[in-house]
Formats: sequence, C-alpha cells, structure tokens
Amino acid sequence: NITVIGSLLIEHIFFIDRMPDLGESFPANDYMKGPGGKGANAAIATYRACHGSPATTSVSNDGGETDIKVRMVGAIGKDSEGEYMIEALEQSHVDSSGVRRETGISTGKAFIMVEETDESRDNRLIYTLGANVALTPNDFSTVESLSSGTRPDLIISQLEIDLKAVEMILETAGNAGIKVLLNAAPANSILPALYRYVTHLVVNETEAAILSGCDLADVNHENFEKIARGFLDYGVENFVLTLGEDGAYYANADGLAHVKAFTVESVDPTGAGDTFVGAYAAEYVRQQKAEEPWDIHKAVTRANAAGALTVMKPGGQTGIPWANEINDFMVA
Ligand code: ADP
Repeated sequence: NITVIGSLLIEHIFFIDRMPDLGESFPANDYMKGPGGKGANAAIATYRACHGSPATTSVSNDGGETDIKVRMVGAIGKDSEGEYMIEALEQSHVDSSGVRRETGISTGKAFIMVEETDESRDNRLIYTLGANVALTPNDFSTVESLSSGTRPDLIISQLEIDLKAVEMILETAGNAGIKVLLNAAPANSILPALYRYVTHLVVNETEAAILSGCDLADVNHENFEKIARGFLDYGVENFVLTLGEDGAYYANADGLAHVKAFTVESVDPTGAGDTFVGAYAAEYVRQQKAEEPWDIHKAVTRANAAGALTVMKPGGQTGIPWANEINDFMVA
C-alpha cells in the first residue's frame, strides 16, 4: 500500500495565446476547472500506474498492474470544492479516509495560465493553500498517524504542505523504517539531517537548483553527477532529476544514467512531475512486492512514459495514464 500525504487544491485553468501584460485584461481561449494539488495528483497518478484502466483493453501486459491500494492524507475545507476533491479521489479509487475536513478555512485553490503558441506550451501558476495549512507536525509524530492500521510500503510527500509537517513525516517514517519518496516541490530546502530518511528524492531543475544551492543554469548534463553526489552523500538513497522534454537523470549507489524522454506533442505540462512521481512509485512498490532486485532504470523509464502521456492532454489530472496505457505507449 502507498500513502500519499500532501496537498489538495481545486485548479482553475485558463488557456491563453500569451501572458497578459501589467494592467492588461483579455478573455481566455478556454477554461477548465478540475481537482488538483500535488498530493492529490500524485495519489491518482500512483493508483492509475498500479492498475489497468477499467475503460480500455490492453494490447500488452508487460508488468505494471498490481493490487496496490493508495490512501490520501490531507486537509480540505467544509465546502463544496472540498467535497468535489473527495469525489474526484474516490472516482479514481483513492482511499480518501485520511482527508480531514477543517472548519473555518476553505479548500485550497490554484489558478493556472497555460500559454498556447505554435512553438510551445508553457504555464504559470499561483495558489492559495487554504485548508492544506491545517496539517501540522503533531499530526505525524507517531507511526500510527502514518499507517491507519496497515503499514504503508511507501509514503509519498511533497512540499505543498507545511515544511515542518513534512520534516516530521520524514523523521517518524525514517525511525520506523518506512520508505519515503520526497518530491521536493514546490522548491524548498528540508533540514539536511533528514535526507538520510529519504529513500527517493525526485526534483525538477528548479528544485534541484534551490535544494543544492547552485544556479539554475548550472543544473545541466555536465553537473549532474556533482549535484547527485551531494544528495547521495547526505544520505538520499535514490536521486532523480526530471528535465521535462529532456527526460530524467537518476543516481544511486549502483551508478547513474540519463533516460531520454519520449517524443510527444506537449499540450499542457501541468502535472507532469506529479505523474512521473506516481508512476515511479508504483513501479518501485511493484518490484518490492515481487521481490525483484531494484531496477531504477525501469522505474524512471515507465515514469518518463507516464509524464509524456500527461503532457499530451490538458489539465493536471485528465491526462494521467493507467498502467496498461503506459505499457501500450512504451511498446508502440
Ligand atoms: P515538473 O512538472 O515537476 O516541472 P518536468 O517538467 O521535469 O517536471 O516533467 C516531468 C517528467 O515528465 C519529465 O521527466 C518527462 O519524463 C515528462 N515530460 C515533461 N514534459 C515532457 C515533454 N514535453 N515531452 C516528453 N516528456 C515530458
């Protein structure tokens, strides 16, 4: 079982030709409302990467499908948007019993502008965390608070909730020997002493720059080994750097490699990182349960496929692929 502890946000996505100038206003080409938040996205991505789609039949059965359950832990307001989030999780078969309804504070919201030009798709995002801030370190100070009866095979967390709460999750899980995947997004630095509790650290280029204290321009192919070495020396077991259309790098005690991205037409990059995390986590836990030796290359390759499938569709959650869709895409 995989537990995701993190944020839940309603996304309001506006599709535009160009970013507005200061003081300028113009109508968007299109608008979409949907469930999101890095936590909820990762939970749904993880579930789908573990299971075949109920709607389609697979042409390939090359692994991926499992009976892994996914549980979401987080906080929403007592409002209709919060209920919308719960429905979205449950429709996606994610156990929402760990999501608390907070009084006097509204469900978190994100406002996303996706710029669509002939050459590229880019996004800018602002958000208000709302009820997500209600999660405190005290909520995660015991193993029981992380486990709900069944000890998770993996905890996934991001930094879209209180940093101190995430640090407590790492400490409690680490002391209990529960594996943690930390997706350090949005970029923020955790206490270096806690890296030893991180089994998997997944970051994009911006996050890698902030966490390692180097310039964004220096997060490149030549410097990957040095950057990775820094995190491994702190105690991170597996370090993964995602590079958008350039794929991803990974490094652990066995070595390092660059895995190229799949070539696709990007419509909306929202949620690519969260989907990558979900597919990587699903493959990690599948291998653990099957008692296979850890093959990080395979996990990163499946995650690249899932990330590529996501950017081909608009919205954070609509494009998240199922295990059989990842399989089919990889053999195509
Ligand atoms: P984030 O969304 O956190 O910024 P990235 O942009 O690095 O993360 O994307 C995460 C992963 O999604 C990449 O490592 C890659 O596998 C996949 N991906 C993202 N953009 C593209 C793209 N344009 N083409 C193919 N794959 C992509």
